[in-house]
Amino acid sequence: MTAVFRSDVTVTLVRSAAGDADVLFAARVSTSGEASLDELDKDPEKSTGLINYLMRDRHGTPFEHNSMTFLVQAPIFVFREFHRHRAGWSYNEESGRYRELEPVFYTPAPDRKLVQHGRPGKYEFSSGTPEQHAGTVKAMESAYRHSYDAYQEMLAAGIAREVARAVLPVGLFSSMYATCNARSLMHFLSLRTKKENAKVPSFPQREIEMVAERMEAEWAALMPLTHAAFEKHGRVAP
Ligand SMILES: Cc1cc2nc3c(=O)[nH]c(=O)nc-3n(C[C@H](O)[C@H](O)[C@H](O)COP(=O)(O)OP(=O)(O)OC[C@H]3O[C@@H](n4cnc5c(N)ncnc54)[C@H](O)[C@@H]3O)c2cc1C
Repeated sequence: MTAVFRSDVTVTLVRSAAGDADVLFAARVSTSGEASLDELDKDPEKSTGLINYLMRDRHGTPFEHNSMTFLVQAPIFVFREFHRHRAGWSYNEESGRYRELEPVFYTPAPDRKLVQHGRPGKYEFSSGTPEQHAGTVKAMESAYRHSYDAYQEMLAAGIAREVARAVLPVGLFSSMYATCNARSLMHFLSLRTKKENAKVPSFPQREIEMVAERMEAEWAALMPLTHAAFEKHGRVAP
């Protein structure tokens, strides 16, 4: 198989049941009981105040009554970080035991900042020279080809996939479905994006941030009022 080298990630919203009205009917059960279901047919724009109040005062549970499922294709090192998010997330990932893994590998794009400065937990990055970028890509491609050849040789010799995969690097692409709700997504976004208006700054690795940015764009289209309230209140998950 011919190796493929990618610098991007794939995020596709494959299913969703998520809208601003879902927040409102859940919140209004407090005062209206089952009559709060009427909220689903009303214009949520009229209730931006309630959504803002819930976000500001961190009443988080009304933001859980919705669901989004994403197909994500990204390097394994991104998935290792992603799967640390336990609360309000469900995952299913392709198996290296049950299928032969394809030679799709990550290399940084020319605009990916390569050189780090500062201290752990608060790194700043600068671009690096074209030579550094070319050398990085060359070293990665060479190592990827070498390890994938070894994988193929073991498979050809009759070795089980689950054993042979040990030589494959964390730059190999994998695929997963990830299902979350707006509250768990906001928690993820607060940690995995770096934004000026964040009340609590975070310093995520760029590649998981690329996934997070694409998820955020999908979510913002589904729940614009909730997203606007998240932005307004400093990107703190309620
Ligand atoms: C910039 C950055 C650097 C990182 N560096 C490292 C690192 O060097 N090493 C490392 O191991 N990890 C590292 N992590 C991962 C980090 O420690 C978390 O595992 C990850 O961010 C998931 O956060 P979380 O636990 O809040 O999320 P979730 O697991 O989704 O949990 C969400 C929330 O639920 C509650 N919760 C969940 N489980 C429990 C529990 N068992 N007990 C009590 N409350 C719970 C907490 O309030 C938690 O914030 C890093 C993360 C970031 C963003």
